[in-house]
Amino acid sequence: MSGGHDEVRTGEDPTKAILSESGLNSKHLCDYVVNVATGCRHGCKFCYVPSTPNIRTRPDMLKEEVDVENGQKEWGKYVLYREGLGERLDDHLDRKRSWRETERGRGVVGVSFSTDCYMDGRAGEITRNVVAALTGHEKYTRVLTRNPILALQDLDVFEDAGKHVTIGSSIPCMDADQVGAIEPSAPAPEHRLRGLEKFNENGVQTFVSMSPTYPTQDKADLRKQLERIAECDPAVVFHEPINPRGGNFEMTVQAARDAGEEKLAADLDLLRDRDRWAEYATNHLRWVQKIGEELGLPIHLWPDKQLIKHVSDEEQVWLQSWRDRQSPEKFAERETPNSRTPHIPHARS
Ligand code: SF4
Repeated sequence: MSGGHDEVRTGEDPTKAILSESGLNSKHLCDYVVNVATGCRHGCKFCYVPSTPNIRTRPDMLKEEVDVENGQKEWGKYVLYREGLGERLDDHLDRKRSWRETERGRGVVGVSFSTDCYMDGRAGEITRNVVAALTGHEKYTRVLTRNPILALQDLDVFEDAGKHVTIGSSIPCMDADQVGAIEPSAPAPEHRLRGLEKFNENGVQTFVSMSPTYPTQDKADLRKQLERIAECDPAVVFHEPINPRGGNFEMTVQAARDAGEEKLAADLDLLRDRDRWAEYATNHLRWVQKIGEELGLPIHLWPDKQLIKHVSDEEQVWLQSWRDRQSPEKFAERETPNSRTPHIPHARS
């Protein structure tokens, strides 16, 4: 273990997890995930990871390795790296005979969705070997990071992987102060987009996840954000509004307040009223669809199941059609009997 209690404590993850099946196929992201670490340096306040069994069921390991008393409360303050993961994965893939390929997950492997695989240089070194192992075995690999600029150090690996790799980033909002309030240690949105732009210029496929857009953003803000994203020419733009659920939401509101982002804190607070939340969420989904159509951007909306239960019959049909359709992304695409895209009703302005 290293580092005092005020900084990020680091160690090695003694568990030997390599490749796990994932439920993220429901979002058209992947069928498997590989995580290069336990814990994440970025410490985003809304992050769902600290409330998952991966953290909740391992208090002894966290205490022993990095002196963590409460894995949820101390999220962002510890990282356990999975050293040698790329080499283990390479051996595992040599032996693995079956491969899961759902219609929505397309057999893709996500790297990493429970940490940021380029949060720092040490994670980046593990990620480099992981991406090389996966794509060397011709597995489609989706890399998600808030630090694509750091990932550029591995551009050679991404270029070699050709059609087998895509790299994306979360761009919830373009206002660096608001984003900085609730994603305190992650690079600013413009920095993330510049990294993706560079990958794109070098022929590497990219994607953007507008997740989650903030209630402070109006239609004009979303248009500016989408126009900037369009300049980066991603293969798909996923979008979802925030859902005010659980203890993480409390922490998000508090973090905005602590950072002096009063308007963001107040607007988030208002979303506890389910009618207000439904109005904000359907507006954002509608605007992103409409502006995306106008800009010719390949959009894919992720409407929440709870939202669909809460809106009018007409809106239910519209939102459900997004849950039923295939993502427009060509990455890892294959023809299956059910892969036709259903009709999407037009969004009202
Ligand atoms: S970068 Fe991702 S995994 Fe890391 S804290 Fe933020 S949301 Fe969680």
